[in-house]
Amino acid sequence: MIRFEKVTKRYRGTKRPALDGIDFEVERGEFVFLVGASGSGKSSCLRLMMREDIPSDGRVLVLGRDTRTLSDRRTPYFRRNIGTVFQDFRLLPTKTVSQNISFALKVIGRSRAFIKTAVPEALERVGLESMGKRMPHELSGGEQQRIAIARAIVNRPAVVLADEPTGNLDPTTSVEVMRVLESINAAGTTVVMATHEAGFVDQMQRRVIELSEGVLVRDEQRGSYGDTSAVRTLRPEAERGAAALAALTAAQEVQRETLTGLIPTPERDPEQEPEPEMQEAPQSDAAREDDGASETDRTTLPQIDVEVDELGMADRLGLADSHDDEVGPTS
Ligand code: ADP
Ligand code: MG
Repeated sequence: MIRFEKVTKRYRGTKRPALDGIDFEVERGEFVFLVGASGSGKSSCLRLMMREDIPSDGRVLVLGRDTRTLSDRRTPYFRRNIGTVFQDFRLLPTKTVSQNISFALKVIGRSRAFIKTAVPEALERVGLESMGKRMPHELSGGEQQRIAIARAIVNRPAVVLADEPTGNLDPTTSVEVMRVLESINAAGTTVVMATHEAGFVDQMQRRVIELSEGVLVRDEQRGSYGDTSAVRTLRPEAERGAAALAALTAAQEVQRETLTGLIPTPERDPEQEPEPEMQEAPQSDAAREDDGASETDRTTLPQIDVEVDELGMADRLGLADSHDDEVGPTS
């Protein structure tokens, strides 16, 4: 599903590469923690997966696509299979919760029928079905992040990439967010989460890929955080312990719910490998309408009233034209 082959990333004007000969593979349905101190290269890794950037050397394959050979024109369609969550939520402050989520679907030309069912479904999956009419500022930080997760999953992506999603949250709230990501993974979505929070990683017993100064120093299937010396300074010991315990409880609850069928299991066949052509995430009938569209049709994006402060959003969704020259095939 995601494969890094000897990936090196050098940023212009820097001496040391941000990533140096990274190799790993993430399988469909995995939950992977990407850990390491600040500056170790976690965000760089995630940006390469989203094709916000391409490697200086080596190859990044996501959903069967080499991000280097993928054209800029195809990138927005590629990104529809990837949900993204960031530390700072990135909600549109002047739109309601529902509008924040439906906006993400409108910009990619989803039908009204699809939006009407998908938005409440996404809110339900993050446990905030009653919050649709609220404004983002009326919600707690944890709730705002859960809305951001609802937005990330509303188009039913195959992968969710989360860059320090709990970085702005207190331990208790972080647990709520972790729990939501766990349940999304339990329902079949691959999740890669960058974090430096040892509390979660220790207790979740998930795969851990650890970076140190751009080098992969550990890849453990059901590992826990290794060198926590950098992390200890981040929060008091007791608080970390409480968060870890709460995270573990939440994870166990999710596992139980999955086993008892409260959380639906994925429709797709886990054995099925991604096809060389772009793979679409499973979609409802309403969503399939536009799948038969030709490439030419697909390049015609719907006309939407996009306010200036929303352009950052459009860019994240792969709709803005401008790319800095780091982005896009260079050779
Ligand atoms: P992390 O997310 O683990 O904190 P990053 O991937 O953000 O790490 O950064 C890894 C290294 O690359 C750091 O040394 C950082 O300063 C550098 N870096 C990241 N982005 C850029 C950029 N756009 N230009 C130059 N250097 C960068
Ligand atoms: Mg980062």
